[in-house]
Amino acid sequence: MSQIKPQLVTCPECGFAEERTLFVSLNGERVPTQVLHLLDDTFEEQVCGQCGACFRPEHELLYSHFALRIWIVMMPRAMRPRFAALEAAVLSQFQQPFAEAPPLVSAGLAGVRPRLVFGQPFLSEAVRVIELGIEPALLEAAKLFFFRRNLGRLMPLGPHELTFRGFVPEGQDLQLAVRRLGDGAIIEELTMPRSVLDEVTAEREEIAARYPELFARPYVSAARYLHAAE
Ligand SMILES: [Zn+2]
Repeated sequence: MSQIKPQLVTCPECGFAEERTLFVSLNGERVPTQVLHLLDDTFEEQVCGQCGACFRPEHELLYSHFALRIWIVMMPRAMRPRFAALEAAVLSQFQQPFAEAPPLVSAGLAGVRPRLVFGQPFLSEAVRVIELGIEPALLEAAKLFFFRRNLGRLMPLGPHELTFRGFVPEGQDLQLAVRRLGDGAIIEELTMPRSVLDEVTAEREEIAARYPELFARPYVSAARYLHAAE
């Protein structure tokens, strides 16, 4: 059920717009090459025909991988302030096409939790987290802990959010990229000790009571607590 379509793409550097073929939906089970591109942050990378800038276009896409229980809607970053309304849309979109599906398809969807992400780096992160066997809600809770314990270092960077890039080579600590909230550009790279993730995992019940939205809503993001008034 992967589908591609020509779409108008605008270069974030110079504003030049041209038509490019992008995915509307992508089934990770059928197109493993694209999954690798997602994991290394090069999925749908474009080179601007005017200024030569390299970028990943902002657009809407549905990513699914039923064996891994993944169903993710990616939306452009600029739509994030409307996340509450979009969550409701994602939930009904998730239920709609399968309401009358044959039992086999319905069975394949059991345990799938629909997700909503904003921007390409967050789709990459969401896929990476599942592939590495980390529970998305716990990673976001770990980011909240890490942020609050490193305010002195992180606050001067201005409004930003953290994306998980993978584990440090031959280690268990987590590599994070600090992305500016406005344009998503990486402004710093950090390492989060594995102990933070272990801590929230051990306190999962308490965390779920304190941050219920991370465990029950499609937009699983620390940003919903840190940038609510964005
Ligand atoms: Zn350009």
